[in-house]
Amino acid sequence: MEKLQSALSTHALAVSSLPDKGRCLVSTRSFAPGEVIISQEPYACIPNNPSADVRCDGCFASGNPKKCSGCRMTWYCGSTCQKSEWKLHQLECQALASLTEDRRKMLTPSIRLMVRLVLKKKLQSEQVMPTTTVDNYGLVGALMAHMSDIGEEKLVLYAQMANLVNLLLPSLEINIKEITQNFSKLACNAHTICDSELRPLGTGLYPVISIINHSCLPNSILVFEEKKAVVRVVENIPKGAEVSISYIETAASTTTRQKALKEQYFFTCTCIRCKKAGLYEDIQESAVLEGYRCKDKKCDGCLLLDSEKKLFTCQQCGLSRNQQEIKRIESEVKQMLDKASKISSSGDYFEASAMYKTIEQLQLKLCHSHSMSLLRTQETLLKILMELKDWREALVYCRSTIPVYQRVYPAIHPLLGLQYYTCGKLEWFLGDTENAFKSLAKAADILRITHGTNTHFMKEFLNLLEEARAEAAYMQTSRQPFDN
Ligand SMILES: [Zn+2]
Ligand SMILES: [Zn+2]
Ligand SMILES: [Zn+2]
Ligand SMILES: [Zn+2]
Repeated sequence: MEKLQSALSTHALAVSSLPDKGRCLVSTRSFAPGEVIISQEPYACIPNNPSADVRCDGCFASGNPKKCSGCRMTWYCGSTCQKSEWKLHQLECQALASLTEDRRKMLTPSIRLMVRLVLKKKLQSEQVMPTTTVDNYGLVGALMAHMSDIGEEKLVLYAQMANLVNLLLPSLEINIKEITQNFSKLACNAHTICDSELRPLGTGLYPVISIINHSCLPNSILVFEEKKAVVRVVENIPKGAEVSISYIETAASTTTRQKALKEQYFFTCTCIRCKKAGLYEDIQESAVLEGYRCKDKKCDGCLLLDSEKKLFTCQQCGLSRNQQEIKRIESEVKQMLDKASKISSSGDYFEASAMYKTIEQLQLKLCHSHSMSLLRTQETLLKILMELKDWREALVYCRSTIPVYQRVYPAIHPLLGLQYYTCGKLEWFLGDTENAFKSLAKAADILRITHGTNTHFMKEFLNLLEEARAEAAYMQTSRQPFDN
């Protein structure tokens, strides 16, 4: 711990402790938006590797990685990555190669991540792999396991998973209790590794990053560069303040956020957004995000259930809607959503887009225009229309989501930046250079802060921005004679 403190102090950070939260990370100088607070390589990680999109185990790159000939279960982009992973994979490969087909099917990403964790601990303790102040098993040991918070069912499951790890590594002396605890630690400490466009690629454990606590209005965000976790500042952090990131989707009502945090992370959030729970402003916002809309199409009011629990009454104009009617539409939407998602995963995007448009119409009758369920449908439609290469309609949906993003996310949020980016790209495809440049410039204002400028994604994006700027300027000068 002392060594960790001195390593962190060179980054102007310190581990502190708060009575109701436990460990936390605090700044020892002020930080400005865009600055990197801390970055860390994973202690252990694993790519998701769905069969359609396998990735290199070393750098998480897709493309055309080659299968390891020993176990035929890991992929590498080339010999550099294979060599860099070999010390650990050598042992893992032996364990995997000897498995029957049935056993292989039992290897979930969590089990495989745990196998890697156990092997890394062994190799570090034997000094085959180096140990550093930010990369050692002691930091994994210090993570909270919440054993007394998890239910009996989960406990049994984790113990079964620990037994499986034991079977996979017969030559090692495995402490089943410790592995069971580690599975519990993974459940509330492991991070989903995402690409620059926030699509999930895998899972990793970053014990130093895990010290950072949650806020529903965080001053920092966690992004990934390949598999390295990078924490960047999005709001000024004064000297001595706690660094915070968000563990969950923050575009949700206070009740929904609190429930998600309690269920997965076992704490009650007391951030500045959560402190507003029960206040009129918070109830109003929750009703917009997750409640129902007024019967009067022109009214922007939200409905709350009346005290007899029969009618939903508009808080603005007093009109009521019958609970039965609402339930009927709700169950229709639910049935259609189940169907539409199956059709979409089968690849029939044409049929899926028609279904989601029907769902959208039903949701427009039911929910506020800024509601989360409507937003999710519109986001899905955007993705489907992009698959269908219907750029024009995709742009309509992309544009319609932006006011909602502006409402539900802070001004500097990667999702808002990425949505401007998508808008700009679609406008560019459609030859609307001027608007493309405007959208891309808005995206750049946000993504420079959240993503930095060094990744391949950002370099390509900034090139596109420059191209759009040049073309928009050229068009303006060549048009001027006519304007005058
Ligand atoms: Zn690689
Ligand atoms: Zn192998
Ligand atoms: Zn909160
Ligand atoms: Zn109303």
